[in-house]
Order: sequence, then C-alpha cells, then structure tokens
Amino acid sequence: AVNLPLHAANETAASVSLQQQDTIETRIQNLLAQMSTREKIGQLALRDWGTFQAADMKAIKQAVREGRVGGFLNVNFSSVDKNAFEELQRIAVEESPLGIPLLFGQDVIHGYETIFPIPLGQAASWNPDLIRQGARVAAQEASADGIRWTFAPMIDISRDPRWGRIAETLGEDPYLTSTLGVAMVEGFQTDNLADPTSLAACGKHFAGYGAAEGGRDYNSAYIPERLLRDIYLPPFKAGIDAGMQSIMSTYSTLNDVPGTGSPFLFKQILRDEWGFDGFVVSDWNAVMEMIPHGFARDAKHAATLAANAGIDMEMHTDTYDQYLPQLMDEGKFSEAQLDTAVANILRVKLRLDLWNHPYPRAKSEAEREQIIRNDQFLNAAKEAAKETFVLLKNDRQLLPLKKDQTVAVIGPLAEAAHDQLGTWIYNGDKKHSRTLLPALREMVGDQGKIIFAEGLTYSRDTSTDGFKAALKAAKKADVILYVGGEEAILSGEGHSRGDIRLPGAQAELIAALSKTDKPLAMVLLAGRPLQLDKTLQQADAVMMAWHPGTMAGPALAEVLYGETSPSGRLPLSWPVGAGQIPIYYNHLATGRPATDDNYTRIDKIGREVFQHQPGNSSNQLDYGHKPQFPFGYGLTYSQFEYRDLVLSNTNLDGNGQLTISATIANTGKATATETAQLYVRDLVGSVSRPVRELKGFERVTLAPGESRRVNFTLNADQLAFHNAQMQAVVEPGEYRVWIAPDAASGLEGVFTLH
Ligand code: BGC
Repeated sequence: AVNLPLHAANETAASVSLQQQDTIETRIQNLLAQMSTREKIGQLALRDWGTFQAADMKAIKQAVREGRVGGFLNVNFSSVDKNAFEELQRIAVEESPLGIPLLFGQDVIHGYETIFPIPLGQAASWNPDLIRQGARVAAQEASADGIRWTFAPMIDISRDPRWGRIAETLGEDPYLTSTLGVAMVEGFQTDNLADPTSLAACGKHFAGYGAAEGGRDYNSAYIPERLLRDIYLPPFKAGIDAGMQSIMSTYSTLNDVPGTGSPFLFKQILRDEWGFDGFVVSDWNAVMEMIPHGFARDAKHAATLAANAGIDMEMHTDTYDQYLPQLMDEGKFSEAQLDTAVANILRVKLRLDLWNHPYPRAKSEAEREQIIRNDQFLNAAKEAAKETFVLLKNDRQLLPLKKDQTVAVIGPLAEAAHDQLGTWIYNGDKKHSRTLLPALREMVGDQGKIIFAEGLTYSRDTSTDGFKAALKAAKKADVILYVGGEEAILSGEGHSRGDIRLPGAQAELIAALSKTDKPLAMVLLAGRPLQLDKTLQQADAVMMAWHPGTMAGPALAEVLYGETSPSGRLPLSWPVGAGQIPIYYNHLATGRPATDDNYTRIDKIGREVFQHQPGNSSNQLDYGHKPQFPFGYGLTYSQFEYRDLVLSNTNLDGNGQLTISATIANTGKATATETAQLYVRDLVGSVSRPVRELKGFERVTLAPGESRRVNFTLNADQLAFHNAQMQAVVEPGEYRVWIAPDAASGLEGVFTLH
C-alpha cells in the first residue's frame, strides 16, 4: 500500500501573496501588542440585533466605541436608524481605541438581490463556471452595501432529502461538492481578497450537520471516522486549499460531541492536519446550545469548551465577553490562546483590506442602482437557471412545447413570485421576480394560446374547489403544463419533512388532469427531490426546476420551448419513496450479488432500466433497492451515445496516471449538452469499497450528428481512501472504471494497480 501524507503543507491562502502575508503578520503582531485583553475579546464578538436588549442603538454604538465588537451579522438596523450601518463602522474606525474596522457578514447564499437558483439547483448544472459567476454577482451586489463576508458555501454532504437544508447543499457527492464549492469560493473571494468587491467565504457546517438523524434538523449525527474523512470532510479540505477564509461550526453533535465543542474537529483536523489559517465562527447560538445538549453545565462552561475547542469567533451570544477574563484568571484559557484567536480574525480582516475599504462600495443610491439587479446580473441569473433544470421524463417527446399549441397552465406555482426564490433570501424580494405566465405568453406571442387556471392556490392547498376550472381549461388545450411542487417555506433551515410526497391535493389534481387524456407535462419547483408515486406515470414529461430564483419565468419558458435543451443532472439520488432514505449511489455492495448486480453491472447505456420496477430483483418488496432516478441522471431534447471506451494502459503503478476516453455522439435532432461522468470501483480493499465513486466529469455541447472524444486523466492518488488505521492509502488490485451518463450505467473498463 502507498501511504499518502495526511498532513497538508501549511499553505498560505491562494489569494494572498507571500509578501502580503509577511506584512499582514507584522501588522497583526503590532496590533496585538497595543490591544488590551478587553479589546482582544471584543474582536471575537460577532453581534446581531438579538444580542442587544431591545435593539438599543445607544448601547450598540457604545460597545463598538469601546472596541467590544468585532463584527455584525445580518444587520438590519434601518428600521431604527437608517444610517446605522455606516455609522457603526465610522465609530469603529474613528472612535474605537485602535480603529479596527468591523466585519459585516450575511447569509448571501444564492444571490443578494438578484436571486440565483437554490444551491442544490445550481449543483444540478454540474457547471463550476456558472457557480463561480453566480457567487461573483452576489459578491458585487453585497459588497455594494458594505458586506464583506458571506456564510457560504454550505458544503455539508447530505444523503437525506427529508432534511430541509438539503436545498442549500450541493448534493450527496464529495467530488461534485468539492468542485462546485471551490468554484463558489473563487467567485466570492476572487483571486485577490483585497478587491473591494470580494467577500470572504465561510465553509459550513463543520462537521456532519447534513447527516442529522432522520433528516430532523439540528439532530445528532453519527458518522464513523472513515466515512467522515472520505465523504464528509473532503469538500472542506478542498475549500481551504482554495483559500477559503472561514469555517462555521455545526450546531449538531457528531458522535456525541457537539461540533462547537470539538477539539478533534477544530484543533486536530482543521489546524494540525490541514494547516488552516483563517478563522472559525460558531453557528448562531451554538455555543449556548451546548447546554441543552447536556455537554456544558452553564454559560461559563460553554465558553470554556468552545474557546478551548478552537472556536475563534462567537456568533450572537456573548459568553466570551462575559467569561473569558475570568477563565483567563483561573488559568482555563491562556493569553496565548486568545492571541491566536484574535490573530486568525485580524488576518482575514487585513486580507480583505478593510482598513482601506471600510464602507459600502456604493457611495450613493444612484451608484447602488447601477450595481444592484443590473441587466447583466439578471441575465446571468437567467442563464444559470436554464442550466439547472433536470428533465426526468419525456415520453413521446412532449417537450419542447410548440408555439402554436394551446397550453393550459395549471398548478399552484406557475405564478409564484415569492416561492420561486426558495430558501435563504435575506435581500431577495418577490417584487423583482419574473414569473412564468407572462414569460410563456411572451414566448408564444400571437402564434399560440396560454390559458391559466391554477387549480390550487398554494402547494399545500387541500381544497378541490379550483379543480373544475382547471379541468375546463385542460379540455380546451392541446397540452397541459402543470407547475407545482413545494413552496419555498417547505425547505430550508428548520423546515424538514417526514413525508416528501407532493403536498396538498396536488396528486389528486394531477390524477384528475391525466383523465382528460391530454398530454401532460409537469414542472416541479421544490427544494428537494419528491416522492412522485403515480404522478410519474400520469405525467408524460417531468422537469425538475428546483427553486430557480428571480429569473425563473424567462428561464423556464426558454427551456420549455426548446430555445435551449435542458442539461441539468441530478446532484443526488432521487428516491422512490421516503422509506428508502438514506439512498445514495456510492454505497457498499451487499453480500447478495443478484440484488446488486442489476445496479452496478450495466454493460450498455440503458437508462430505461432505472424506471422503478417494484420488487424486481430486490429483497425490499415495495420500493426496491434502486432509486427512482440515479445520481447524475438527466435527459435532454436530443439523444447521446457513448462508444469506444479506451484506457491508455491497464496497468498502473502507485504514482502512475491513466487516461480514459470515450466518444460521445449526439444522435438526436437538437443541439444539447451531455455531462460525461467518470466513475471508479476498487473491487477488493482492506475495507469494503463503494460500488462507484465519481472522479471527474465533463460537459460537452454537441450539434446533431456531431461527436467528440472526452478524455479523463486519473492519477493513482485519486484512488486514495482511509483504511482501518485511518491512514490515507492507495491499495493495489483490480479496479473498474466507467465513462457514464449517470451513476447507474455507462461503458465499463478494467485496470490493475500494482
Ligand atoms: C444557520 C447558519 C447561518 C446562521 C446565520 C444559522 O441558523 O445554521 O447556516 O449562517 O444562522 O444566519
């Protein structure tokens, strides 16, 4: 076995040059030498509205003046004092003892005012460029208002669509999440953090939040260390290697220890193994939540545990402010530890060059208007949304729609200015949303006819009163376009579901519509994959659109009418039903090959194999072992063929490299984008290895009749995993490799590692 070093080189963030870093370290030491203990503790304080009794502006300003606040999050003081934001920064810069600027952070998750698709939707694009650009737009808008830090990317892996925050993740796979998470970091931070349009990124939540038991938010996570290191941690490591400046601790317990009190996570892994040199912030109230967790006795104990675990900055609560001086007197926290925490925070503030750019970038309302929601940004949001739609089914090529058809638009989310924006939209406002109905009408002009009867007023509506009008509209139409799914509030933080079926009376409405025998296309807006049951048979076409953001309407209209072919691919496995969860593609094989063979041994491209066949070749009698749609899956308006898999060599040594190539041909009638995926399987390991693991992907856009070779390079070290001794190893033996359109099919090859 080849041993790979676990300890990363102590690298400097990619976006800061070594020379800049020297100056920064000197400035940190100079500042520390002048700071009182009180001021040092002040830098660790991240405050919000709720920290101060009754949002007492006088008290807030006084705290800033005394150097007792390091930053604010999600500030919305405008109701009390319109200019408070700038005024607080002015006080920090001009009146506090050392003039250290405040850092303003916010949850800029998928856009600031121009709302992009929810992260899970963006992940379905499998397009890092698109994600980088979305983050860039968000950073330009947010920095116009003085925000220089975002609590994103959320790079928690989740295998549980019941969990409401799955909407905020980049899916179930560590490679995809790492690649897209890094792109997001690059978009927020640029390659120069001192650029006043940059935002420091924050990878969250360290670690294991996405494995909350039962998908119940904030719940315990149990993750064996190997799984943690192989599946849950790589996106964080990748983000840090790309220069990500901060990390947020998880609320949840990981293997019975609250993340916020875990030296294993923050000292051993983050600092000692990975050499992270940015700062760690606790999640909102997470320090105090160690008390109900039964881990801390009281606030003082919570402060001791968090500070000693390596949480540099405390969000919302003020246990550091209250107890650190005492803890230092008692010898439970040292001046040297305090200096380290302060240095970590000052380092990022200095890299952001807040001293030269402390105030909002837009100096006037007019300047702000030039930036916020400008045409270029809105267009970027539309183009992004178009790449996130996943075509799950398209019988008899019902889609794209034809302009001369009469279309009955039915369903609760066709005109859903708010709901199309999805979760986490602090500054997003439905009044700027471009909805579907007007976009469809504009698309068809006077060539066709769009009629509208919503049938249900919102996604959870159980009243059938609107069915009659909906059926009447359906009967007049050539095609029914059903637009439903989940309203925004059904996903996001604290919004998990146990039942992931279509809410309200939607399934009933779809069943009634299908009885009209009109062709039925269904567009789903939702923060998670849904259990589709019979609606999947009743609809001729199904397109998953997630929550597409501000520009949902025009983006959907362009794809529904075939101006662009859909190109989204599932960033997670789509379950048949909630009872299958957790279901994910990179699982282990059981000891019963007959069951698994169907899943793993496909020698030709046969996507139809993955239509659900209850009980077929499976010991689970109702749902079966296969997901409804596998990871990586998505159709388009054309067809693609995979041919001629070639491996550059079939024997590889421990430091070697292999090229795997195949021809992708567009054999259909439309220009379309195919995402070719590289998977491997280590057939025999010192521990059982997953049936497949994604190692690369490439998007190719081809005209009808066109074909292209895709080439993947696989380095032996990409085959590393953690063995029983928690060493990262590459083990010799036989490997399978696939170039595939999804995790459940593809062209298969074999190589041996010596
Ligand atoms: C969430 C974080 C978020 C923070 C600040 C918490 O409730 O878990 O993801 O960044 O609030 O709004």
